[in-house]
Parts: sequence; C-alpha cells; structure tokens
Amino acid sequence: MFASASGRPKPVRIMGVLLISAVATIGLVVAGSRTVYNNLHAADEERGWIDHSQLVITSLQTQTARLDRVDYSLQLFAATGEQQHLKSAISTLSNMNVSLVQLQEMVKDNQDQGHHIDQFDKTLQSLTNLIGSMDSHNRVLPEKQILEARNILGIVLQEERGLLHDRNEMFRKSSDRSFLLSISYFGFSLLITLVLFIFLFRDALRRSQDEKKLFSAKRELESTVNKLTTRAEESVILTNARDELQLCTTAHEAHECATRHLNLLLPGTSGATLVINNSRRMVEIGAHWGEPANLLDGFDPDTCCGLRGGKLRWRRKGRTELHCGHFIGTPPDNYLCVPLAAHGETQGFLFVLCDTPATLALAEQRESLIQEMAELASLSIAALNLRSKLEGQSIRDGLTGLFNRHFMEIALERELHRAARHRTPLAVLMLDVDHFKQFNDTYGHEAGDIVLRSVAECYRRMVRTEDVICRYGGEEFVVIMPDASEEVALRRAQMIREAVSDIRTQFRGEALRSITVSVGIALYPSNAIDGNDLIRSADRALYRAKHEGRNQVILADAPQHVITT
Ligand code: GH3
Ligand code: MG
Ligand code: MG
Repeated sequence: MFASASGRPKPVRIMGVLLISAVATIGLVVAGSRTVYNNLHAADEERGWIDHSQLVITSLQTQTARLDRVDYSLQLFAATGEQQHLKSAISTLSNMNVSLVQLQEMVKDNQDQGHHIDQFDKTLQSLTNLIGSMDSHNRVLPEKQILEARNILGIVLQEERGLLHDRNEMFRKSSDRSFLLSISYFGFSLLITLVLFIFLFRDALRRSQDEKKLFSAKRELESTVNKLTTRAEESVILTNARDELQLCTTAHEAHECATRHLNLLLPGTSGATLVINNSRRMVEIGAHWGEPANLLDGFDPDTCCGLRGGKLRWRRKGRTELHCGHFIGTPPDNYLCVPLAAHGETQGFLFVLCDTPATLALAEQRESLIQEMAELASLSIAALNLRSKLEGQSIRDGLTGLFNRHFMEIALERELHRAARHRTPLAVLMLDVDHFKQFNDTYGHEAGDIVLRSVAECYRRMVRTEDVICRYGGEEFVVIMPDASEEVALRRAQMIREAVSDIRTQFRGEALRSITVSVGIALYPSNAIDGNDLIRSADRALYRAKHEGRNQVILADAPQHVITT
C-alpha cells in the first residue's frame, strides 16, 4: 500500500473500483439472464394461448362443417324420404355433441365464449330433439335451429379469431422485448467488461512502467555502489602511497614506492618514473613497473612532449599523433607522460604505457588519480632531493660537489689515526690552478666557475674511491691519499697535472685557454705527523711549485725533487 506521488489513484481505490465493477457485471448478467428467462417464459405462455385458439378455431370449423353435413343430409331426407339420410344426420349430430363437450372444456376460461357455446349446446339439443321426431311422415326441416346454430358458431369463430390475432400480436411484442432486452444486457455487460479491461490494462501498463523505473533505479544504485567501491579502493591506494612516500629516505626509494603503487592503481599497464639529472641534460629511468619495453634510459629532456609542454600529455592513436622521441625503435601506440614537478622545478616525468584497449580505458578513467599520484611523488622526491642537498651542503662544496674544508679536516684526522694504527703511509696533495684569476678577469666569474667545475670533475676521475678530495678554498684543492707512498703520490699528482692540462673548456661558444695546476705534496709520517702540519707542509711545497714556474709537482721539504713537463 503506497500513495502515488505522481497524482495517480491509489491502488486501494483502483481495487475498490475493480471490485464494484466486477460485482455490477455479475449482477447485470444475473438480472439480464433472469429478465430474458421471464420474457421467454411469457412468450412460451403466449405461444400456448395461440395454439389453444387455433385448436378452438379448428374445432369450431369442424362443428360448422358437421352442421353443414347435417343440414345437407336432412335436405336429402326431406327430398327423398330415405332413412339413411336421416340416420347420417343423427350420427353427425351425435359426433357434434361429443366434440361439443371438448369445445366447452376448451373455452371455459373465456366467459363470453362459454356463454355462446352453452347457447349452441341448447340449440344443438333442440335440433337433436326435432330431428329425433322426424320420420317419413314428418319431414319438416328444422331450418330455424340450424340457422341459429350456424350463427352462434360464426360469432364464436369470429371472437376466437379476434383472440388469436390479439395473442399473436402479444407474442410478437413479447419476442421483440425479449430480443431488445437481451441485446441491451449483452451490450451493457460488454461495456462494463470493456471498462474493466481498460482499467486492468492501464494498471498493467503502469505496473510495467513502474517495474522499468524500478529496474533502472536498481541499475543506477548498483553502478553507484560499484563506483563507490572503486573510489574506496583508489582512495586506499592513494592513502597508502602518501604514507609510504613520507617514510622514504632517499629519492630512489620514493621512485620505487611511486611505481609500486602505480602498478596497483593501473593493473595491466607498464611504465616508469624518469629523472632529469643534475646537469639537466639527461633523463634517466628512476624506477619502473611492468616492462616498458622500448623506453630509452638516458635521453635529452626535449625529446619528451610532456616535459616540453609542462603538463600531462596523452599520445593516443587516432587522436594525438605526435610521438615523443624517448623510444628505441617503433614507438608504442598509446602512452601518457606526466611531468613530475614541485616547488617550481621539474624533476622528471611519469611514463605510462597502455598496450591494450582495456588498459588504455583504465588509464583514461583514472587520469586524475595518476595526476594525483604524480603530484605526491613529485612532492616527496623534491623534499628528499632538498634534504640531500642540504645535507650535502654541510659537508660538500656547492660549486663543485666535492667535500668542503671542514669535512677534509675531519677526514684527515680520521685517516691519520688509521695510518698510525696500521703503520701505513699517507699523502696529502695540495693543488692550485695556475693564474686562475685571469679567467675571472678575462671572461668573468661564470667562466671561472666553469673552469673550477671542470678541474674538480677531472680530480674526481683521477683519484681512487678511497681517496678524499676536497675544495680547500678558492681554486685550491686538497686530496688525502691513504696508504700512498711518496712514489705513488708523485705518480698520481703527475697524472692529475697532465690530465688537467688536457681539459678543454668553452665559455659562450668560445674556447678558453688550457688550464694548468701546481701541486704540493706532503707525506705522513716523513714530513709531518699532525694534520695541520701536513697541510702547511703541502702548502709550502705548492708555494714553491708556483714560485718555480707553476704547472709542476713539488714534494714538501725536498726542493731537489722537482718534476716538470
Ligand atoms: P696563481 O697562479 O698564483 O695561483 O695565480 P692565481 O690567479 O690563481 O692566484 P690568486 O690566488 O691570486 O687568485 C685566486 C682567485 O680566485 C681570486 C678569487 O677571486 C678567485 N676565486 C676564489 N674563489 C672563486 C670562486 O669560487 N669562483 C671564481 N670564479 N673565482 C674564485
Ligand atoms: Mg691559483
Ligand atoms: Mg690560489
């Protein structure tokens, strides 16, 4: 039971109408049948009366015919005197008397007719008496009685014919009424049945419409539930990714974490996070999921359309045709590049490869989530990079990336202790770029910085990994070489000096002059056993190298050991 919001009659009311209509139909059918039955019954009675009148008429006509025969026989008797004619008349009269009893019985329902028949009876009796008195001597015909009897029969016949006519008329009317009533009841019943059918049909139609609405509402509900479930799953993945990214301690870990969660978010796809290196000239794969088969590892940032545009970019077959250039061989049909940028700096980009229509549809559907994941990863990677940069800044020199003087002093102390404990030698090299000031003066500080970075890179290449290399200050550098003998230190210093002179640098398209360095070497324990003393000793050797013409290596306290090119 419910009230219709759309203004439809309530089901209760419809049921009431249907019930009343059904009862009315049944009532009408019963009443109609009864009326028709009554009419048929009445018609049947009329029919009986018609038959009765016809019987009476037939009987009267028989009496008339017999009376005619009596008259004829009597006339023959009167003419011939033959007894047989008299007998025939008496016999016929006797038959008439017998039939008269039946006739009296038949008309007893009608008083007038009964009266006439009684008169006829008397006339017939008087006629019988007169005929009984006739013989060969008395042949007087009873003409008066015959005439009277004929007249009475004529009156009765006429009246009966009138009755027959009336009864026929009544029968016809009754039949017509019966027919009309039958038609009316049938029509009325048909009408009510039609109305009932219309009601039921309308109800069935509405029910079907309501069922359709219910079905579509159910489907909508199902799809909403599915969407909510998917949303909840996506939300869990994003929340987990955010939590885990916050726990990462290095940028590499953050890349691994991001790709792991992207794999969960986009099952069936493959892809990678890519990093722009420190020189900002190269993009390398940070981490990947699946097999992004022909993705290059190490390429120019400009080859990625997404990086160039600075925003999410789809390459979809038939929609956006232009390909990025970071592939080996034929590029794939459908892929997505999302720049990883935070705090105004682009660190790299996220690459998603969609091999199949299903994975493409999934990635398109979850595009905003991919973007959200890219933002989370970018923020985390940027924060970790910043942290490592800040950490590096406290022990490293910002320009060259080498350890700073403070770290060098700590490292020298530590290495000297180790050398003392293991009774091994140690060499300290102090290196200074010759006439460095001229680079600054001629081309400006920017050119000087380029020279410093090139020299530092060369030093880094030329020393062993266990050696500690630091920027001591300005264009002066110190290399601590644990376990290095005088010979090893001299050879290494010489190699460095030669490698530096091979450096070719350019500034704004112009080749700078070649670089040379002077090197002073101090040895533990032969020159000093204390760190400060060793540095001072190396510095003095360097000073001598400068003094003696630069571009050379000098051993501390050994002016005779001069090696030049
Ligand atoms: P020498 O051969 O005697 O060593 O001559 P030099 O010109 O190299 O010596 P000097 O010590 O006179 O000049 C060092 C210059 O280095 C002075 C200073 O302005 C410059 N300098 C120090 N630190 C930096 C730096 O970080 N960048 C640049 N561009 N120049 C620096
Ligand atoms: Mg110098
Ligand atoms: Mg100097």
